[in-house]
Formats: sequence, C-alpha cells, structure tokens
Amino acid sequence: MKLLFSLIIALLVNLCLAKASIDKRLEKLYMKLSECSYTVTSGYRTKKHNKKVGGAPNSYHLYDRARDITSTKKCREDLGKAALQEGLTVIYYNKHIHVDDREEAKCLIKVKNGFRDCNNLMLRTRLE
Ligand SMILES: [Zn+2]
Repeated sequence: MKLLFSLIIALLVNLCLAKASIDKRLEKLYMKLSECSYTVTSGYRTKKHNKKVGGAPNSYHLYDRARDITSTKKCREDLGKAALQEGLTVIYYNKHIHVDDREEAKCLIKVKNGFRDCNNLMLRTRLE
C-alpha cells in the first residue's frame, strides 16, 4: 500500500513537471538572472485583442503559450540565451523578446522584411 502511494505521488510529480507552464519555465530563468528585472508586456490574448495588436493569426499568445518580455538590452539577451537553452522559442524584437513553448524550438530575429534565423548564431555563442 505504501509502495502504491509512493508510485502515485511519483506519477503526479512527473505529470506536473511535464506540463510545466511557460510561466513556470520562465520563473526558473528569472531566478537564475536575479540581477535583471523583467516585465511581461503581453501574455494570453483573445482573438480580438490579438488582431488589434497585429499578432500573427496563429500566435501562441492565443493559447496562453507565449510571453512578450522587456528589460534592458543585456538582460533581454541573457534571458533569450537562457530560454533557448531551456528549449523554448525566442524571437528577438527591437525592444522586447517573445518567448513561447512550441514543440520545435526556434531562434529568430525580427528584421525589416520578416525574420532571420539565429539558431546557428546562438549555438556558436553557447560554445564560446
Ligand atoms: Zn509575442
């Protein structure tokens, strides 16, 4: 009976860890980067609000799986690197970074005509 109880607890703990929300995953990173302070400027969006702010039609904000975060340039870059290492997708904008938990993580930089892939760039800085 005691063993069964332990197994059930272990199963529940695993389920919780597997389904860690984007906020839980980000909180871990905020704690690591304690010298920085971060402000989440966009989280869950309704379809109507997403349209209003010019979000992508299939934005991860619609599913509560994305956050837009501001801070100083250095702190944004540090969070971006940490988020990529955590397996999250990061999109670098001029004044904020977008982080989401899509299945296949990406690193993108917003440029004039779209997005530039920065996976190789990040891999290089990780190895340095
Ligand atoms: Zn966003």
